[in-house]
Amino acid sequence: MIPRQLFNADHEGFRKSFRRFLDAEVMPRHEKWEEQGFVDPDIWKRAGELGFLCTNMPENYGGSGVDRLFSVILLEELARTNASGIGWPLHSDIVAPYLLRYGSEELKQSWLPKMASGEVISAIAMSEPGAGSDLQAIKTFATEDGSDYIINGSKTFITNGYNCDIAVVVVKTGGAARDSKNVSLIVMEADRAGFTKGKPLKKVGMKAQDTCELFFDNVRVPKTNMVGQPGMGFMMLMQELAWERLLIAITSVANAEAVLESTIAYTKEREAFGRPVSTFQNTRFKLAEMKTELQIARVFVDRCTELEVKGTLQVDAAAAAKYWCSDLQGRVIDQCVQLHGGNGFMLEYPVARAYIDARAQRIYGGTNEIMKEIISRSI
Ligand SMILES: Cc1cc2nc3c(=O)[nH]c(=O)nc-3n(C[C@H](O)[C@H](O)[C@H](O)COP(=O)(O)OP(=O)(O)OC[C@H]3O[C@@H](n4cnc5c(N)ncnc54)[C@H](O)[C@@H]3O)c2cc1C
Repeated sequence: MIPRQLFNADHEGFRKSFRRFLDAEVMPRHEKWEEQGFVDPDIWKRAGELGFLCTNMPENYGGSGVDRLFSVILLEELARTNASGIGWPLHSDIVAPYLLRYGSEELKQSWLPKMASGEVISAIAMSEPGAGSDLQAIKTFATEDGSDYIINGSKTFITNGYNCDIAVVVVKTGGAARDSKNVSLIVMEADRAGFTKGKPLKKVGMKAQDTCELFFDNVRVPKTNMVGQPGMGFMMLMQELAWERLLIAITSVANAEAVLESTIAYTKEREAFGRPVSTFQNTRFKLAEMKTELQIARVFVDRCTELEVKGTLQVDAAAAAKYWCSDLQGRVIDQCVQLHGGNGFMLEYPVARAYIDARAQRIYGGTNEIMKEIISRSI
């Protein structure tokens, strides 16, 4: 079908070494991490040592200063292997850019090099028990007290929450009103008095990912921990959202492609009525449909990626990519489960794990309904 044009030889070399690392050091441990509900922190340090964290941060902050296509490769390979417990993209491609773009020099120096080495694990804490899609309804308040803020409230569903050493927390600074100018971002260290973490939440899928609740009870944080200016939080979140949504589209397509590949192999081997399942017309047509739709998604997502690298990806295109590709991922994996028969429902088969892990893609990063809201605003 249509060849890809995004990557050069350096990117592909990087892909090979990351793939080797995942196959040798991550995947053999993943089942244990799924059982315990979080990834052992030592693998973060190992990833840091090998240059797989915060790759596109500048060298003076511990990164390799490379372009975002290296992040795309990391995302694609994590999705291909379905290493769904690994929270590196959120750390390297969501939290680190906030600090780099908007943080003070002191915040950058304090955290970025340690994030790149894997010594510090980061999270971003927006969602609350009473507010997810509607971010302006959050009830975590930061009240001024001399040179500090006193923070009270709680967050939920926070990826890397259990392991995190720092969290960028979305708080209200100006008052309770639903006003975007009241929203701010502040770095909170996990060892501050009054900051506690819940146990990893028991989830339908992505069981190795340490998603948890965070509680803030009069946590005193210096004003110098503010990312950007007070009241700039909503603007900063909006600036970064196109890339964050594209991340999900990229992983949706790469994961569905890998599941389709393994399903093709399965249907060629598995026999029914004395012939391979792949020879039934229904199977061939289903595989043809999935291959076609994934190819269409691939071309769209690669083009969005090109625009993102140039800095011109529009918010509505990123929202379209996130919603359509994660929906497609769900449809493709569902059909692949069906082509596996009973084995498709057994967790020892990768297709079954992909099935439960993929469901969250349509929910986080802004639900797919919110994506349609965003697209409709541009019509
Ligand atoms: C595995 C996982 C990891 C996550 N990681 C993080 C994280 O690291 N940090 C973080 O801050 N959050 C995280 N989240 C939270 C996630 O971003 C939210 O769950 C999501 O934004 C939806 O918010 P909600 O759960 O409050 O749903 P709600 O906002 O309560 O939505 C409920 C339903 O109403 C619909 N709805 C809401 N508003 C509208 C509207 N205007 N029009 C139409 N329909 C609407 C939604 O689409 C949804 O179907 C994670 C969630 C999961 C499942």
